[in-house]
Amino acid sequence: MNETTTLSGPPIYGHTQVVGVIGWPIEHSVSPPMHNAAFQALGLDWCYVPFAVRPEELKEAIAGITALGLRGINATVPHKQALLPLMDELTTAARTIGAVNTVLVQGKRLIGHNTDAQGFLRALRETGFDPEGCKAIVLGAGGAARAIVYALASVGSQVTILNRTPERAKQLAAEFSQVNPKASLQGGPLTPGALAQARGAQLIVNTTPVGMWPNTQESPWPREVSFPQGVLLFDLIYNPRETRLMRQARGAGARAVDGLRMLVHQGAEAFELWTGQSPPVEVMYQACLAVLGGNGKNGKNGGNGGR
Ligand code: NAP
Repeated sequence: MNETTTLSGPPIYGHTQVVGVIGWPIEHSVSPPMHNAAFQALGLDWCYVPFAVRPEELKEAIAGITALGLRGINATVPHKQALLPLMDELTTAARTIGAVNTVLVQGKRLIGHNTDAQGFLRALRETGFDPEGCKAIVLGAGGAARAIVYALASVGSQVTILNRTPERAKQLAAEFSQVNPKASLQGGPLTPGALAQARGAQLIVNTTPVGMWPNTQESPWPREVSFPQGVLLFDLIYNPRETRLMRQARGAGARAVDGLRMLVHQGAEAFELWTGQSPPVEVMYQACLAVLGGNGKNGKNGGNGGR
């Protein structure tokens, strides 16, 4: 496999298959270089294009997918929820999470997928962590948390969701309690007291944007609470590549990983859905690194967790 990465796009012909990403704004997206590098590495006559789509023009843009003969699209902020009623069919994951991040075109039908949950589980397993039945704490209860909680519930984990607005955490726990009878979900406030009781957890996932560029000195974990040892911290943030929370975890002897591998794996899932080919994950990862920079401190990219 060719492991080198180039940001120059492949040649485009009349028979080139086209996919892309819709968002507003879209300039920050790392997905075009990530997918185009993958197409090039496998010698596929495909290309991936960013489309800046205003929220009020989403319906027209979606109608254009089949009219223009696109093979699929990704969606990022602010379109992921608004896509739900515009699909002909939804996967269970997309329906339960309440967001579509990947559209697969089958004939004239649009199938709405959500690859964030599988992307997270693949990134987690890649670290050597087995999430089946684990005890996990999820910080935050927003859009990203929905995919994470769905993923953890689907593998029968015991999940405590802690959120600044505790009602949202409790609501999320109640909403997802039917995903898997083996899982147990509860919600509560993101307070020092609740975090201090996180001792028995094997996994802590940060889904809040606290610590993201440019507010890199912030952390959702208060100084006065020591970070538990022997836990794996998974921070969904990938800009910067090492957050203050990750430093707190490593300082306490815990393992910490950032969100870039999840971003790559959700993209890899979409790649496989569209092309039917096994995705060149390392090529995709290196293409993201080339855009973000090794330390991820590029203010233009990775702003709102968008692909
Ligand atoms: P969101 O829907 O706006 O949710 C944000 C969550 O964080 C909410 O639960 C919110 O609490 C909490 N929060 C926000 N500011 C806070 C603060 N100052 N202190 C404590 N809690 C705070 O955002 P999102 O779409 O879930 O994205 C969240 C993060 O995930 C972003 O950093 C994004 O980049 C990242 N992300 C990464 C990937 C990846 O592939 N690596 C994918 C998606 C998202 P309230 O409910 O109280 O407002």
